[in-house]
Amino acid sequence: MKRFLTILYILCGLAVLAGCGDKNAVLEPMDAAMLAGYEVVNAAVNISQARQSGNVEEMAVVVEAGQQVQSAQSLRLQALQASIFRDFVNRRANSLQADIATTNDSVGNFAGHIAITFDDGPHPVLTPMLLDALDERDIKATFFLLGREVDRYPDIVARMYAAGHSIGNHSYRHPRFIDISRQRIVDEIESTNRSIQAATGSLPTLLRPPYGARNNTVLDVARDMDMSVVLWSVDPRDWDHRNALIVSDTIVNYASDGSVVLLHDIHETSIEAAVLAIDALVARGYVFVTVEELFGLSEVALQAGEVYRSVYHSLGVSQ
Ligand code: ZN
Repeated sequence: MKRFLTILYILCGLAVLAGCGDKNAVLEPMDAAMLAGYEVVNAAVNISQARQSGNVEEMAVVVEAGQQVQSAQSLRLQALQASIFRDFVNRRANSLQADIATTNDSVGNFAGHIAITFDDGPHPVLTPMLLDALDERDIKATFFLLGREVDRYPDIVARMYAAGHSIGNHSYRHPRFIDISRQRIVDEIESTNRSIQAATGSLPTLLRPPYGARNNTVLDVARDMDMSVVLWSVDPRDWDHRNALIVSDTIVNYASDGSVVLLHDIHETSIEAAVLAIDALVARGYVFVTVEELFGLSEVALQAGEVYRSVYHSLGVSQ
């Protein structure tokens, strides 16, 4: 026991010498705690030595003095430990805040922004209904259109474009691109781009392959045609549920800063869900922007042949 205490004594003494050496100096909590620890051990050594000396009177005095030092220094030690812990927590909090500030600086200003997207239109009845609802709320959305439907309802597409919505390519006939030849992929994209350009005067730069199905050939073609591949980060499976409440709840629960929400404006329940979700999220302070605007607010530049799901995903952060 004595040897153990002596070793501790020496170790603490060394630590104090290394830390500061001067008891009267203003000590960092870590050094002060080390010093208090040294005092506690020192008192224990004195007590132990007095007990072995055989002198009863001397022993009683030393033991009492030692115990007083021990209890005072133990309390001090506890207080210092608490202070060190508090200091550690504060430093950690400051460093986290600095991290957040740095992250915000480096990723831009997309917080509070969401892109809502609609596939498979335009639908002759439902899409104009949706456009009315979006107009009333001054909400900008992104539509991934089928070339075949654009050719049937070019006026709806022209209205969509004039209202400031973004228009992307969702193929001409909705095949799975991974099941068809490179040439057919090119044909599907090119014919749809031509239809959209005829209706709006503008060539799309966003491509959403049907079902999100893509492989290297698809990405290669997109790169050649100068188009970015935009998927989604929130999929409420509106085509499956056909229930406005379930779908809108899913969107409200899962959408957050930088999300891309997937819906289809060919089901009435999806239009209802979109309106419910938009109103709920706007009430929470979210702003709806087009896909290009969303990524424009971040430092993620949309590049041809690359795949985008959400801003966080593109920043390498799982959402
Ligand atoms: Zn589709």
